[in-house]
Amino acid sequence: MTNAQQPVPLLDVPAQNAPLEAALRVAFDRVLASGRFIMGEEIDAFERESAEALEAGYAVAVSSGTDALLMALMAHGIGPGDEVIVPSFTFFATAGCVSRVGATPVFCDVCPVCFNIDPASAAERVTERTKAVIPVHLFGQCADMDAVNALAREHGLVVIEDAAQAMGARYRDKVCGTLGDGGIISFFPSKNLGGFGDGGLVVTDDGELAAKLRRLRNHGMEPKYYHPEVGGNFRMDALQAALLRVKLPHLDTYSRGRAANAADYMARLSELDGVVQADPAHCRCLDKADAAEAASPSSLVLPVAYPHNTHIWNQFTLRVPGQERRDALRDHLIEQGIGCEIYYPVPLHRQACFASLPGHALGSFPVSERLAGEVLSIPVYPELTADQREAVVRAIGFFLMGGKV
Ligand SMILES: *Cc1c(COP(=O)(O)O)cnc(C)c1O
Repeated sequence: MTNAQQPVPLLDVPAQNAPLEAALRVAFDRVLASGRFIMGEEIDAFERESAEALEAGYAVAVSSGTDALLMALMAHGIGPGDEVIVPSFTFFATAGCVSRVGATPVFCDVCPVCFNIDPASAAERVTERTKAVIPVHLFGQCADMDAVNALAREHGLVVIEDAAQAMGARYRDKVCGTLGDGGIISFFPSKNLGGFGDGGLVVTDDGELAAKLRRLRNHGMEPKYYHPEVGGNFRMDALQAALLRVKLPHLDTYSRGRAANAADYMARLSELDGVVQADPAHCRCLDKADAAEAASPSSLVLPVAYPHNTHIWNQFTLRVPGQERRDALRDHLIEQGIGCEIYYPVPLHRQACFASLPGHALGSFPVSERLAGEVLSIPVYPELTADQREAVVRAIGFFLMGGKV
């Protein structure tokens, strides 16, 4: 019973889970009857199944994507005195975890076209203390991993992929997570495989690293009550694993749904006056966008999926040049009952908690700062209907025409 007047949420969690209700109840009952709520068969099975889905040697199920990042840093022995390069334009956890192990997050800038780490900016930030780099596959599209891996090889850095938003995304036909020295996935309900609360995964092809992660997840304990190292309680609940096992086989279907929605937006939004598509041949180059903006004051820049990537569209993120215009479009969409969100309004180098770090000053990472003022993500979840997409496109078109029909 959708129509153009009906609100379009940014995400519709009940719509995704409703068709699976019977299977979810079966999984719940199975765990309830087993009485086994910590580790055990559900965790083992979920790890096997998710490793297979991600074409990874090993998957370690953990308490959240944030804890997965923390553990990956711990497992690689990164701590006080070490520096880790992270893009400034990402979710906080990417850098927060670096600080939490006692190391220093060193920010670098990102590409204005794909929103991901700019390898040239990362290269400028390398020092003798640099131990690792964390490329983030932001919004569901892989970063330029060939360039990141080349930089890492040159300087002997560990590469930890933050694939929290990109479960199942491919880079040159390889699933992300094992493109470097290990990667992390999040099952936060808004991610592509949305869980029932918090959950995360570390994936790697390195058996020794996987064994270490399994120990760290459980207080660094092996054997029982003997602790060769200090870990924590980073376990995923058996119940969470059982429920995620119901959804995992549908991940590809969800991704296809998101991709179809994105393709529809691309086709229809690009027909509107003043809408341009960022040119994938000009990654890291703002000129095209600037030219478009100059040509039409009502420009809107569509996201790009690189041909060598399988984008899984965790977000469909527009750029609306000019902070006031971006905020005005956001206000207009909200007024029309259309969910939207600014991911992310403050680049990490500008966060108050990082005020003492070099590179905190305004102007340090101009692309990240500019994106923070331009980006706006619109609904792209798999269950979005044609009517709902129509409502989104119409509301954007109305805005671009200055509110005149
Ligand atoms: C969601 C997210 C995380 C953290 O995952 P949680 O499961 O919420 O802890 C880390 N990095 C990025 C880029 C994310 O989007």
